[in-house]
Amino acid sequence: MRLDYDIAIIGGGPGGLSAAIYASRGGLDTVVFEKGLVGGQIVLTADIENYPGFEENLSGFDIADKMKKQANNFGTEFKMEEVLEVKPKGKIKSVVTNSKEYKVRSIIIATGANPRKLGVEGEARLTGKGVSYCATCDGALYRDKIVAVVGGGDSAVEEALFLTRFARKVYIIHRRDKLRAIKLVRERAFRNEKIEIVWNSIVKEIEGKDFVENLKLHNKEDDRDFDLTIDGVFMYVGIIPNNKLVKEFVELDEQGFIQTDASMSTNIPGLYAVGDINQKVLRQVVTAASDGATAAFEAEKWIENTKDQ
Ligand code: NAP
Repeated sequence: MRLDYDIAIIGGGPGGLSAAIYASRGGLDTVVFEKGLVGGQIVLTADIENYPGFEENLSGFDIADKMKKQANNFGTEFKMEEVLEVKPKGKIKSVVTNSKEYKVRSIIIATGANPRKLGVEGEARLTGKGVSYCATCDGALYRDKIVAVVGGGDSAVEEALFLTRFARKVYIIHRRDKLRAIKLVRERAFRNEKIEIVWNSIVKEIEGKDFVENLKLHNKEDDRDFDLTIDGVFMYVGIIPNNKLVKEFVELDEQGFIQTDASMSTNIPGLYAVGDINQKVLRQVVTAASDGATAAFEAEKWIENTKDQ
């Protein structure tokens, strides 16, 4: 049977792009489906300073662009089509997009994760009007203004540091008395005069008529409500996996991340998962790239072993 491709990779973040580089370099007919901009969540990051080999701090966009070109050079095709369904069981699998059903031998899920919403009053109404999930995209709008970042992880603290390039004051609002971010990043924030950390506090409501004006906060330590006047608020309270396409049939952990074995195989033979959508201890460009390489290598073996059966 003539198939459309050997391997379909769904998602064009670092995990998917790395899989594409390895699969196409390994001689497989490879397609990457990406409904938006290639690069995934890293394109929302201004500086990547811990991806080995790039001491000059490339932006997330630049790294993704380099990976895409590298995959292209080995023959990967990129299709800007939205994948609506995958049919991963059996030796011939299908990927159904908004324009066609593609027959392939193996599928790699690289659909990543999206920022989690805080879920407080005012958040949805004021999104795009002072509520943002992307400092890289919107930070420059807040030159000389006062902004808040909600969260205490690597994203929150790194993006708060990034925002100090523009804003005159950056509050980090964290629900505990200790940041989750790594020491190096934490200490940069402690040293930065523009950053003030609002400890032990949660956001109860985001207020503003047409644009964000005020946060209603609650301090859990002394059980006190208080207001913070700001011009914008950036949410970095974690991520949720984009598991919609596979959640009915792959094994997930309790938070919805895909459980794979060391070869990035899911519980369905020939179906692999890589990057932020996976249950893992470290979500980084380098670990996503590693997942992608492993999955492509395993997929190549699976295809070789099942092709003539
Ligand atoms: P994260 O590590 O899960 O941190 C989420 C933060 O939001 C935590 O501080 C958490 O508080 C807080 N939070 C969660 N729900 C909340 C709520 N309802 N209200 C208030 N605060 C809430 O997420 P992330 O920072 O987006 O990072 C995701 C992954 O990417 C992590 O593995 C991270 O290490 C990685 N990452 C790495 C880099 C880098 O290496 N350069 C950069 C960015 C992200 P608690 O601390 O109390 O749980």
